[in-house]
Amino acid sequence: MITLDDFDTFPDFPVPGVLFYDIAPILASPALFRAACDALTPPPGEGVDLIAGVDARGFIFAPVIAQDLGLGMTMVRKKGKMPGELLQADATIEYGSSELTLNPQGIEGKRVLVIDDVLATGGTALAVADLLERAGAASVQFGFLLEIGALPGREVLAGHLVHSALVV
Ligand code: 5GP
Repeated sequence: MITLDDFDTFPDFPVPGVLFYDIAPILASPALFRAACDALTPPPGEGVDLIAGVDARGFIFAPVIAQDLGLGMTMVRKKGKMPGELLQADATIEYGSSELTLNPQGIEGKRVLVIDDVLATGGTALAVADLLERAGAASVQFGFLLEIGALPGREVLAGHLVHSALVV
């Protein structure tokens, strides 16, 4: 089982006033990494057809979960990192903004589980939901390792299923 003690915390990173939860200790331990992936994996039959991993730390967990469930995975990437005909959305986050891109191929009609490490303001996740819905996803749900409960991420994602392994 993953606990809050398994994260390192860094005050004032990447900007003053933000407490950053670092997953490095979880990656350093095979047992913790396995526990983190298990905590992010819904039981079989939960109605998921496709896993979406969010750039960058979502990419660490999403492929493992896709493999465990016998599903494929798609990448939601920061702008400029992927070729092809892409959809694009702006994400307003805790410390600035970013532009995310998605290749819409293969998403039409799919029930998508989006995986990321942390839910903070929900800005990133909301942009991901927008991209997937524009690509024709039938439904979009979310799995996070850690949810920062003092921030409005869960409210921002109202209407979507949100599962967080831990809430701080
Ligand atoms: P949000 O868009 O919800 O404000 O921020 C979530 C996004 O920023 C996620 O992609 C996540 O990886 C990253 N993020 C924000 N705060 C933290 C944090 O404290 N620790 C980690 N590891 N990632 C964070």
